[in-house]
Amino acid sequence: MEPPASPLLSASQLATLAENGEERTAKVGDVLYRVGDQSYPLIAILEGEVAILDAADNEIVRHGESRFLGEMNLLTGQTVFLTAIVTKPLRYIAVERDALRPLLFDDGLLSDLLLSTFMARREALQRVEGIGLEIVGPHSSEPTMRMVDFARANRLPFTWKQSPPSGQAELPLVRLPGGTEMHAPSAGEVMRALGIGRELAAREEVDLLVVGGGPAGLGAAVYGASEGLETLLVESTALGGQAGSSRRIENYLGFPAGISGAELTGRAVTQARKFNARPATPYRAVSLEPGNGRHLVRLEEGHEIAARSVILATGAQYRRLPVEGLAEYEGISVFYAAGPPEAQLCGASRVAVVGGGNSAGQAAVWLARGGALATLLHRRANLRETMSAYLIQELERYGVAVRDSSEIGALHGEDGILEAVTLKSGERLPFSFVFLFLGALPCTEWLGDAVARDENGFVLTGAAAGADYLLETSVPGVFAAGDVRSGSTKRCAAAVGEGSMAVQLVHARLAGQRTR
Ligand SMILES: Cc1cc2nc3c(=O)[nH]c(=O)nc-3n(C[C@H](O)[C@H](O)[C@H](O)COP(=O)(O)OP(=O)(O)OC[C@H]3O[C@@H](n4cnc5c(N)ncnc54)[C@H](O)[C@@H]3O)c2cc1C
Repeated sequence: MEPPASPLLSASQLATLAENGEERTAKVGDVLYRVGDQSYPLIAILEGEVAILDAADNEIVRHGESRFLGEMNLLTGQTVFLTAIVTKPLRYIAVERDALRPLLFDDGLLSDLLLSTFMARREALQRVEGIGLEIVGPHSSEPTMRMVDFARANRLPFTWKQSPPSGQAELPLVRLPGGTEMHAPSAGEVMRALGIGRELAAREEVDLLVVGGGPAGLGAAVYGASEGLETLLVESTALGGQAGSSRRIENYLGFPAGISGAELTGRAVTQARKFNARPATPYRAVSLEPGNGRHLVRLEEGHEIAARSVILATGAQYRRLPVEGLAEYEGISVFYAAGPPEAQLCGASRVAVVGGGNSAGQAAVWLARGGALATLLHRRANLRETMSAYLIQELERYGVAVRDSSEIGALHGEDGILEAVTLKSGERLPFSFVFLFLGALPCTEWLGDAVARDENGFVLTGAAAGADYLLETSVPGVFAAGDVRSGSTKRCAAAVGEGSMAVQLVHARLAGQRTR
C-alpha cells in the first residue's frame, strides 16, 4: 500500500501547535493510542519516530521529526481504528481535539495542511484491508447490503466478509474497531457506537430545519447558523450528498485545479459546525406536517422536529438500470459511484461506464487512470449532445472507448460476479464491472401531498407553486433548494447558492410573521 501522505510541519506551525497543546515525551514501545480508543490528540513529532499499525499489528507507515499523526476521525470524533507505537524515543506536542478545532479556523495555512492530509489519509486507509469496521453477511442479505452502502457513502474504512457469520440469524454482524460486535444494527446505532453523529432528543424545536446534507443543505446550514438562526440539519445517509461522491469537481468557483467532492463537502461540514449549525446523521425525514407557526417533520426512528421554517434540500438519487437481476450485482460488480476502492478493484479489468453526462465522463476517466480498460456506453448518437467538450477530450487522452447508441439489455454472470452484458442491439460484450450514471430521481416521496410537486416529482417553488417568495414551496415557511427543486440547475454551485438564498427568504418570511 502507498503510505498515507505525510507532509512536514514548519517551525512556526510547530510553535503554534505548542501554544495550543502540551509537550510530552514517550519511550520506545509506548502506545500513544490504540484501535478502539474513544479519542486521541493530534500528535506533532519534535524528535523521534512512531509506527502506525492496523488492527492485526501490521505496520502501515512510520512518522518522524516534524511530521504529525492524525486522520479524519480527529474531526468526526470517530473511534480510533489504528494503533500508534513509539519506535524511537519521542518528544512530541499533543493537541487535544477541542483545542484543535478553533485552530483550524484561525490559521488558514495550517488548517489547509492538516485537513488535506487527513482526507488523503482517509482515502488511502479506505484501500487497506482489515481497517475500520468489519461487516459480515452475504450479498443476498438486504440489511447487509444497506450497511455496506452506508459505510461506502460515509467513507468509513471497512472490510466486507460475504460468508454468513456462524450461528447468527440476524444480519449483518458488524464488528467495530476494538472488537465490539453488533448484530443487525441500524446505521444510526453504528454511527453512534463509532462516536460519530449527534443524538437528537425525541422532540426538538428550532428556528430552521434543513432536510438533506448535500451542497444545498450545507449551504443553508452555514448561512442559517451564521445569521443567528438556531439551525438543525438532518441527513439520512452521508453529509455531502451527491457532490460528496464526485471524484473531482472542476467547475466550482475558486478552485482552478478542481477539488474532490469529499474535500469540498468535508470543508463545508466543518464550516457548518464552526457556526454552530447542528448536523445530525443518519436521520431520515419521513413526513412533513405543515403547521401554523411551526411545521412538524417526523424522522424514521420516531423523533419529531418542530421548526419555524424548513428548507427541503433532499436532492436526487441515481436512476437504476431496468434489467433483470440487477440487485444481485449491485455492490459487487455494479456501482453508482467511482471512488478509490472501486478504482483499485477494477484495475486491469474491462469496465463499462453507462451514461452520457459529465458524471459518467469523470468516472470513466478516473477508472481508466486507475488502470481499467474502460468503455463508455451511451444511448444518443453523439456524445457532444450531453457531455462537456473538455471531458470528451479527456476520454480520448486516457484511452476510453466510446460506443454511441448503446444500451444494456441484460447482465450475465453468477453470484453477483459479472462476466458480460448484452446490448439491446444483441451484441454481447465482456465486462467485469458496470458503473451506472443515468441521471437522478428526486428524493421527495416522503413528502406525499404536503407540498406541490411537478410531474416528475420535483418540488415546485415561487410563482409555479403560488408562493410569495422565489424558493418558497406551496406551504408558506417551507422552502426548497438545490436538485430537489423543479427547474433547478443540477450543479454544486447552484445548489450552494440556492441554499444561501433560501435562508434570506426564511428571514423575510419570519419577519413577515412577526409584523402580522
Ligand atoms: C458522481 C457525480 C459527479 C458530479 N460532478 C459535478 C461537478 O463536477 N460539478 C457540479 O457542479 N456538479 C456535479 N454533480 C452534481 C452535484 O453534485 C449536484 O448538483 C449537487 O450535489 C446537488 O446538491 P443538493 O444538495 O441539492 O442535493 P444532493 O447532493 O443530492 O444532497 C441531498 C441529500 O439529502 C439527503 N436526503 C435525501 N432524502 C432524505 C430524507 N428523507 N431525509 C434526510 N436526508 C435526505 C441525501 O442523502 C443527500 O445527502 C455531480 C453529481 C454526481 C452524482
